[in-house]
Amino acid sequence: MTRFSIFSLAKNAMTGHSKWPEYWRSPEPKPAYDVVIIGGGGHGLATAYYLAKVHKITNVAVIERGWLGGGNTGRNTTICRSNYLYDESAALYDHAMKLWEGLSTELNYNVMFSQRGVMMLAHNIHDMQVTRRTIHANRLNGVDNELLTPEQAKEFCPPLNISKDIRYPVMGAALQRRGGTARHDAVAWGYARGADSMGVDIIQNCEVTGIRVEQGRAVGVETSRGFIKAGRIGCVAAGHSSVVASMAGIQLPLESFPLQALVSEPVKPAFPCVVMSNTIHAYISQSDKGELVIGAGTDQFISYSQRGGMQIIEHTLEAILELFPMFSRMRMLRSWGGIVDVTPDRSPIIGKTPVENFFINCGWGTGGFKATPGSGHVFAHTLATGEPHPINAPFGLERFVNGRLIDEAAAAAVAH
Ligand SMILES: Cc1cc2nc3c(=O)[nH]c(=O)nc-3n(C[C@H](O)[C@H](O)[C@H](O)COP(=O)(O)OP(=O)(O)OC[C@H]3O[C@@H](n4cnc5c(N)ncnc54)[C@H](O)[C@@H]3O)c2cc1C
Repeated sequence: MTRFSIFSLAKNAMTGHSKWPEYWRSPEPKPAYDVVIIGGGGHGLATAYYLAKVHKITNVAVIERGWLGGGNTGRNTTICRSNYLYDESAALYDHAMKLWEGLSTELNYNVMFSQRGVMMLAHNIHDMQVTRRTIHANRLNGVDNELLTPEQAKEFCPPLNISKDIRYPVMGAALQRRGGTARHDAVAWGYARGADSMGVDIIQNCEVTGIRVEQGRAVGVETSRGFIKAGRIGCVAAGHSSVVASMAGIQLPLESFPLQALVSEPVKPAFPCVVMSNTIHAYISQSDKGELVIGAGTDQFISYSQRGGMQIIEHTLEAILELFPMFSRMRMLRSWGGIVDVTPDRSPIIGKTPVENFFINCGWGTGGFKATPGSGHVFAHTLATGEPHPINAPFGLERFVNGRLIDEAAAAAVAH
């Protein structure tokens, strides 16, 4: 792998930048691997990277039915934060945050992680109670989060409308200064490049169509390019986790919903941070290209369609314009949807399944991008050792049997 540096940049400038090597190979699948990862999104690629880097397991294939990052990784609004309520969640998401903070250096690839601050608005008394409770819980866990008055919120984000007579008045806000955004496809490409350089095979345009299970053990995957034997299989197929798991005879407690986002025409820097309003299901930031990036809540009905209802977007834009009237004359360029797998407690499932050697990492719902490095790191540990890492141990499938739920939906009013 060519390391990016001032020297490699200068050297390649001499040849008109025509001799940069490809980031990753496109190998034919081998007949067998120690580990097969289903899904070439950020989580699957990060898992492969840490398997090779931390656990020295390099006989690994990432099998992707489309192209890298073509799933939710390339469709999300890239908000990164770790101020979740429960101890288990704070540990998981802050583990990811710490990895984000060194990721560009680790991967020798600029993932454009920008800690511009994530502000979550409170619009009513209940919001304020939840906000205060979350801030206290975060601080006990060593996660930064602070309470702002409406005036302080406006100082941090000048376009914010803090008039008292609007439909969604701002009563206060929680600010995580370490939160921010990252460049989604750079994350997938950076992990892919790193994993490939250590010997991982990244196989695109290859769909997993079946899981071969013999006497309760998964032994390999049927794919559109033939059978591939596998010592262990990791399913990281967000949006289609239930479909893939059902190939191994497993029914997951998931519902899949469309989730939409949209971007505006690009404008000069006008929006300094990320603002989320969970109550009205809208969030907004400005990309480095200048586009306003706006996200909605999930559609209310389950579907595998990668587009959602127009009324959801209308509702989101109405709310955004009340909060930020200065954007009222901006034109929206495009909108799209992704499919998010949602668990009953709105926390992910990372761990073993009833089928030996078949492991899952799914159920991230509307908020898995922020967890990408941490999720890959702990899932690699799980695949390498056969046992969960202490951080993902509480996120096993068994919690839906023993009732030890991690209910981030009710507690944090997350926009699901
Ligand atoms: C509109 C939108 C906005 C979002 N905003 C945010 C946000 O601001 N912050 C945040 O933290 N999260 C956000 N999310 C959620 C986040 O995008 C996801 O949780 C995260 O990207 C999941 O990553 P992944 O790698 O698991 O999934 P993906 O990137 O979806 O990767 C899964 C891959 O599996 C592949 N696959 C599926 N079935 C098969 C098969 N049978 N064989 C082979 N491959 C298969 C798919 O093609 C896909 O590439 C958002 C999601 C959406 C849709």
